[in-house]
Amino acid sequence: MASFLVLNTGAKMPIVGLGTWKSAPGKVGEALKVAIDVGYRHIDCAHVYQNENEVGEAIQEKLKEGVVKREDLFIVSKLWSTYHDKSLVRGACKRTLDNLKLDYLDLYLIHWPTGFKAGEDFFPLDETGNVIPSDTDFLDTWTAMEELVDEGLVKAIGVSNFNHLQVERILNKPGLKYKPAVNQIECHPYLTQEKLVQYCQSKGIVVTAYSPLGSPDRPWAKPEDPSLLDDPRIKEIAAKHNKTVAQVLIRFPIQRNVIVIPKSVTPKRIAENFQVFDFDLNSSDMSTLLSYNRNWRVCALVSCASHKDYPFKAEF
Ligand code: NAP
Repeated sequence: MASFLVLNTGAKMPIVGLGTWKSAPGKVGEALKVAIDVGYRHIDCAHVYQNENEVGEAIQEKLKEGVVKREDLFIVSKLWSTYHDKSLVRGACKRTLDNLKLDYLDLYLIHWPTGFKAGEDFFPLDETGNVIPSDTDFLDTWTAMEELVDEGLVKAIGVSNFNHLQVERILNKPGLKYKPAVNQIECHPYLTQEKLVQYCQSKGIVVTAYSPLGSPDRPWAKPEDPSLLDDPRIKEIAAKHNKTVAQVLIRFPIQRNVIVIPKSVTPKRIAENFQVFDFDLNSSDMSTLLSYNRNWRVCALVSCASHKDYPFKAEF
């Protein structure tokens, strides 16, 4: 099993990356340095995580130490929803590049298909608590993303949280110059996404699985929510392989040819989550894990349920 997947641009994308959502300032830099030291070469960032500056400092330190070269790293970031207007895309990308202290990104994603009113608020809300949409069309946003490739600011572009109809809309866009290289979606045994994964892979689009451990630190977690890491059935599979539940949850997407980006700021876990290349789940383990699907979402973006481009009303 190779440790990378090849994108439709020809670039190699490491199959395990470090997630950085909720990685607090003061912690994320150290997490990043530990990750690079134990072998991670792919980092998943976003402007909205508000920690790209510290991520950038840690990357610079590792480059200066000579531990890695820039070309060995695969750095991903995402365009936030308040920057969907064509005129705002380049500035948003430049700001991310400044914060990360890089002169190019390996991959830049439209974070969500839903455009929001431009401005300082990441989630501009009306009096009733609904998000205020922008009047943008993600096809125009895509054109601006393509221009970033032509300018050399990003090597590849993709989407995140797009359903298959929205991906198809991009693929059918008149005058399309670059196809999405990646669709980054929530994916784990409680949300197996079989149809969307199959659709994307059939179109040559690589899938990245986010919240692979079920995102136990999500801010809206409730005690009654299901917990992948505590699931006795997955514990049993892990014990059989002498691995941890987290390692099984990370190995599972890898064997589906899906990239995976577990987040941790705990050095021991960062190392543990990368020790996933020395065992195989057998086909019965794989189908058992797939059978735990219950269409449960960590990131349902409920405040945007009435947005014209809300992605989770379609079947997949
Ligand atoms: P996740 O990776 O499923 O889970 C992270 C949580 O699991 C943290 O609380 C972490 O704790 C804990 N953890 C990590 N390794 C562990 C281990 N070996 N044993 C036990 N607990 C462990 O959740 P996520 O952050 O939601 O998703 C991963 C990444 O995907 C994000 O960070 C982000 O980069 C990306 N993402 C993208 C989107 C999108 O819209 N595109 C949405 C969500 C996430 P500690 O950190 O305290 O160790």
